[in-house]
Amino acid sequence: MAKILVTGGAGYIGSHTVYLLLKNGFDVTVVDDLSRGHMHNVPLKRLRELRLQDTEALVDLCDTVKFDAVIHFAAYIAVGESTEQPELYFSNNVGGSLSLFTAMRETGVRRLVFSSSAAVYGTPKEVPVSEDAPIAPVSPYGESKAMVERMLRWLDEYSGLRSVSLRYFNACGAEPGSGLGEEHEPETHLLPLVLRAVLTGEPVTVFGDDYATPDGTCIRDYIHVSDLARAHILAVEKLLEGAPSDTLNVGTGRGYSVMEVLRAVEKVTGKKVPYKIGPRRAGDPPELVADPGRLKRTLGWEPEYTDLERIVATAWEFEQAKKENK
Ligand code: UDP
Repeated sequence: MAKILVTGGAGYIGSHTVYLLLKNGFDVTVVDDLSRGHMHNVPLKRLRELRLQDTEALVDLCDTVKFDAVIHFAAYIAVGESTEQPELYFSNNVGGSLSLFTAMRETGVRRLVFSSSAAVYGTPKEVPVSEDAPIAPVSPYGESKAMVERMLRWLDEYSGLRSVSLRYFNACGAEPGSGLGEEHEPETHLLPLVLRAVLTGEPVTVFGDDYATPDGTCIRDYIHVSDLARAHILAVEKLLEGAPSDTLNVGTGRGYSVMEVLRAVEKVTGKKVPYKIGPRRAGDPPELVADPGRLKRTLGWEPEYTDLERIVATAWEFEQAKKENK
């Protein structure tokens, strides 16, 4: 079975992908510095704790294991933090990626799936967004992803590195029974914050209700993390078959507003969500929904979770289990 190196495999989306890779019989090694990821997300014998910037250590590892491909998640993801510390984001996300690509070149690993983001589009002019939409990030985080994508285009041309960049929309939910779920510290994402509001009684803030959308709140494309993880496996398999480089949106194509998310949580939990309306958050586009047509055509991918309440139910199960284990 193919040997896959997963960087950032102790994080939220990375660990779900590792879980699915192992289930499908892949030979997986995880590299994570555990600065944001969690040791408990990965089987210990699979984990190598090291920094991506440590090119020498990566070369050693790649020389020893002889990976067939890399799935590269390791990055910082908080948009707000990236506006406060842009240097940190360029150093970690761009510098870390360059170090990885250098080690891959030195050791002849020529297949990569890259964890990109819909943040590369900034505020798109047309929705649903296709991959041909202009790249116009509005945060250092989005720019860091766009820079790596651009780097990959040149490495494809002059270095023979074949890659698939997956532009994620809003990942959420948890794989039932896996023990994995969303655990960012601090948490900034809507669904876990809404679920915590239910559990603690502390109101969640809705960032703006005066957008030009039907209920005034922002619309996003919420995709279940297991559907997202599966896109990585299909992408890596395709690359291993010899497919050319590509860039693909990963979303469901269906948008929900913030208020619709709150209502879905109320249905699933049977409890009222305490919330207040706050000001808009800087850099939030009113509507961000994927056109996933290209992903469906090239990888034969279809989402298993098409219903928001089912997605919410998996996240709720995880939050409750976490509370019981505390
Ligand atoms: N949001 C909100 N309150 C929060 C967190 C998020 O109203 O405490 C909104 C945010 O403005 C956006 C949506 O929820 O419209 C999803 O935000 P999130 O941070 O989860 O993901 P993003 O879209 O930024 O990737």
